[in-house]
Amino acid sequence: MTHTAAQYVVIGNPVAHSRSPFIHARFARQTGLALSYETRLAPLDGFADNVRAFILEGGRGANVTVPFKLDAFALAHEHTARALAAGAVNTLSFSDGRIAADNTDGAGLVADIEGNAGIRLAGKRVLLLGAGGAARGALLPLLDAAPRSLTIANRTAANAEALARQFAGQAAGRLQACALTALEGCFDVIVNATSASLNGEVPPLAPALFSSNTLALDMMYGAEPTAFMRLARLHGAAARDGCGMLVEQAAEAFFVWHGVRPATGAVLDELRAALGQAPASSS
Ligand code: NDP
Repeated sequence: MTHTAAQYVVIGNPVAHSRSPFIHARFARQTGLALSYETRLAPLDGFADNVRAFILEGGRGANVTVPFKLDAFALAHEHTARALAAGAVNTLSFSDGRIAADNTDGAGLVADIEGNAGIRLAGKRVLLLGAGGAARGALLPLLDAAPRSLTIANRTAANAEALARQFAGQAAGRLQACALTALEGCFDVIVNATSASLNGEVPPLAPALFSSNTLALDMMYGAEPTAFMRLARLHGAAARDGCGMLVEQAAEAFFVWHGVRPATGAVLDELRAALGQAPASSS
């Protein structure tokens, strides 16, 4: 008897660069599940039609990446609480003609900080840089991890303040917002959720924000440490990139689809090697 592999994709534009097929193939091998996972390029003005066509082809689930996370939110019939909080979606599940939406990015971030970096967020002073989609997706999972305080700082202060107002109900007074240039004090964990690293830039951050006990995490990743990671290390902090978050959000999506939680450590090591990173570049 031949086994028909389940169909999973990551949909984006562009999408050829995505590492998700690499990660999900390793999770599938590790857990003994027979499935195919590929990249799928959707036209910029045709996300919904592309998803519907994929469902007719037998698609079971899709990860969604730039620029379609808002379109995925709009297309879905059902949303998890964390997808509703994020207002954006990176994981879709298809069954019985229904489209269910989730957002695993924030859970992936928290899993990387707590599981891979070994820093418990409970009681910590956390600084979140940026107020775009990635920051919004991270907020509820970060608050759920019970930090002492969570400060959102953004180039455009009004965007940070709007986010803080939106999440005030879940924050129990722990959430503040300000401009990057108005930041004061020192933080235990600093997460860079701005897109500055995409252009090799780094937000203007005072040295006093960092200490030797600070973990600085850039959501961006590549072969070399980002400018933000280099700045954090210059000021004595430990720094890691977004590779761990990427693998952990994929593991969470894998769990959503298959009900099995894959081990991530070896896959993260393999991904770093595939990206051409030096062995010690993540800490
Ligand atoms: P958005 O475009 O939604 O938001 C960009 C944010 O960055 C805004 O807050 C913007 O501020 C700020 N910003 C842009 N340029 C600068 C700069 N030069 N200096 C300071 N702030 C700046 O992007 P996303 O939120 O979707 O993505 C942010 C990053 O997160 C990307 O690098 C993306 O690759 C990464 N990411 C990584 C994931 C992973 O799994 N590792 C998952 C998801 C995202 P303003 O409001 O003032 O414009």
